[in-house]
Amino acid sequence: MAPRARPRVAGVVGWPIRHSLSPLIHRIFAEREGADAVYLPLLVEPGRGSLMRALSGLRAAGFVGLNVTIPHKEDAFALADKRSAAAEAAGAANMLTFADDGLYADNSDIGGFKWALAQKLEGRRPGRALVLGAGGAARAVVLALKELEIGDCAIANRTRKKAEALAARFSARVADWPITPKLLAGVDILVNTTSLGMAGEPPLAIALTALSPDAIVADIVYRPLETGLLRDARARGLAVVDGIEMLMRQAAPGYEAWLGRKAVVDDELRAALVDALHAEAAK
Ligand code: NAP
Repeated sequence: MAPRARPRVAGVVGWPIRHSLSPLIHRIFAEREGADAVYLPLLVEPGRGSLMRALSGLRAAGFVGLNVTIPHKEDAFALADKRSAAAEAAGAANMLTFADDGLYADNSDIGGFKWALAQKLEGRRPGRALVLGAGGAARAVVLALKELEIGDCAIANRTRKKAEALAARFSARVADWPITPKLLAGVDILVNTTSLGMAGEPPLAIALTALSPDAIVADIVYRPLETGLLRDARARGLAVVDGIEMLMRQAAPGYEAWLGRKAVVDDELRAALVDALHAEAAK
């Protein structure tokens, strides 16, 4: 009997990793097209040395690629032999491919947020955006806003120095923290990239009264899916973008590069992720 072909194997490295939704997303992508593929959550301790050792072992074990999450995105970028333009722009990678000629870094967080926001823009090109936070995810969000040609992009962060560094790197402005209603006047797109509002973290306390009725409010936090910020925005009748949209879309390029042919991002996938989050919250 001929030996069975080996399944293609990929995964996601992070610390912590137990609650990652990426294995579920990739399992759904693979089941839909009957791909012989495995995608594993992999716990890798913080630090460039531990990531380097993990990468060498996973390559030897036959992994074709990896998603990278907190806290390894900058180290993944640094350890790569080749980098996409998106990864270069962000200085961080959430995708690593084990290519024959080395390790290739890419960044699909930028495209993920860009796609999620573009769904709500419907061809409009708003003039002003305000990004809350200046951590790893903020880089991808600011780059996506730039790609969408949002002319005036401001960054507000608790640690002002980090907002200044990001603003200098991406030709954005710095706005004051904490956020006052005055800062929100004239803002077309408000994006939370801080961890405020996440389960176990303090709430993001902002009064949205000064936002125009046409404004879009996005929150990339997805635990809980309906953050206080999104609840307030919905109550005011504003368009909202939640964190699941970006998460689903950033996963698609990895699946298509490593495991299968076509990653379909649709309402059915979203419903499965929402169910998983509800089940987790009910525990
Ligand atoms: P990070 O690099 O650790 O950045 C955290 C940000 O939150 C920093 O700007 C930090 O401000 C701010 N912050 C934390 N605690 C705060 C507090 N008590 N008051 C004010 N600001 C506070 O994290 P990250 O990688 O950017 O991720 C941020 C969030 O985005 C997480 O909830 C993550 O799950 C989510 N995320 C979602 C997606 C998606 O696909 N939907 C993708 C990536 C990340 P300082 O600089 O002052 O510390």
